[in-house]
Amino acid sequence: MDKKRDYYEVLGVSKTASADEIKKAYRKMALKYHPDRNPGDKEAEDKFKEAAEAYDVLSDADKRAKYDQFGHSMGPQGFPGGGAGGFGGGFHAGGFTMEDIFAQFGDIFGGRFNGGGFSGATGGRARQAQPRQRRGSDVRIRLKLSLEEIANGVTKNLKIPTFMPCEHCKGTGAKDGVAFATCQTCHGTGTVYEQVQSFFGVETVQSTCPTCEGTGKVITEPCQYCHGEGVVRKDEQVSFTIPAGVSDGQTLTLRGHGNAPRNGGRRGDLLVVIEELKHPELIRDGSDVIYNLMLDLPTAILGGSVDVPIIGGKARLKIAPGTQPGKVLRMRGKGLPSTDYGNTGRGDELINVMVYMPEKLSDAERAAFEGLKDSPNMKPSEEDKNRLFSKFKHIFENN
Ligand SMILES: [Zn+2]
Ligand SMILES: [Zn+2]
Repeated sequence: MDKKRDYYEVLGVSKTASADEIKKAYRKMALKYHPDRNPGDKEAEDKFKEAAEAYDVLSDADKRAKYDQFGHSMGPQGFPGGGAGGFGGGFHAGGFTMEDIFAQFGDIFGGRFNGGGFSGATGGRARQAQPRQRRGSDVRIRLKLSLEEIANGVTKNLKIPTFMPCEHCKGTGAKDGVAFATCQTCHGTGTVYEQVQSFFGVETVQSTCPTCEGTGKVITEPCQYCHGEGVVRKDEQVSFTIPAGVSDGQTLTLRGHGNAPRNGGRRGDLLVVIEELKHPELIRDGSDVIYNLMLDLPTAILGGSVDVPIIGGKARLKIAPGTQPGKVLRMRGKGLPSTDYGNTGRGDELINVMVYMPEKLSDAERAAFEGLKDSPNMKPSEEDKNRLFSKFKHIFENN
């Protein structure tokens, strides 16, 4: 695939642009590069499509967040075979078609473009209508993942109950997939026209044919297997890979694995909502994980090593002599893969050190501590206090 331009750059907006700024920027681009204003200009058409693709992503809070996180490389098709390997690719292998753009964003043109053609303002030229392709509904599933699965990425193979196209009628609902006649209401175009008075003068407004619901065809004899519905309830075996580093609540889209619409058309998408299972000992914090370590007093004083849980196992952690409670130790690279835009590193494991003070003592232990009571090493000097309090400032103060 060609190297794609950054979507913010395409629309000429900043990364922090508001939804309104994005909409305005897109509208400006769309008007400038509209094919009816640039007939036969391939470059303008490409610009028009590029802007539509950028707008598709940036106008959708969910897609935009994912784009900010993954960039072009790992879009909603973070799944193998999920499309042309990136945003926009899911529409068609080659990006958006004009029909997609008008089906999706027709409303943004505020009535100035009418289903693909200028109308009113430039003389009411209307594009030849195409029978509309229906799209099925999306199927949403929740997928529980352990911290280990999230850290490493995981391939899942699941049975998903969906409405699938009926094999006998190829999803059309018509006997053997052929028992059709052309719709008499719209003469097979799927579209009906109406003249209305508007700001720009008399406009021709088109709408979906109510008789055939836009398909241009009517069934003359229904398929006996699906009773004319074109769909049957089935479990579909779906295999997909979750990229490493996803977060709780994130939705991944598997294009074309949702429900088939009644009587033929494009299938909806399978939306996989990630649910992160709580780890028994580790707490996730973005790409870092946190572990609260309760150190015994002799090890805190004398130093040594302890086993700490890490993602997928255990690690030996060295403790320096005189380790203070409140100290935060860091195990570099033991966190999750970072999904920050442009960052490919791994987070860390942070270990919060607490020190356990014994709550009951034997006579011998008591005697040992009594013997230490007046030793000067047991008492912090003024410098010690200043040094340590300033180091652990974050525990005592709110900043
Ligand atoms: Zn019709
Ligand atoms: Zn059928």
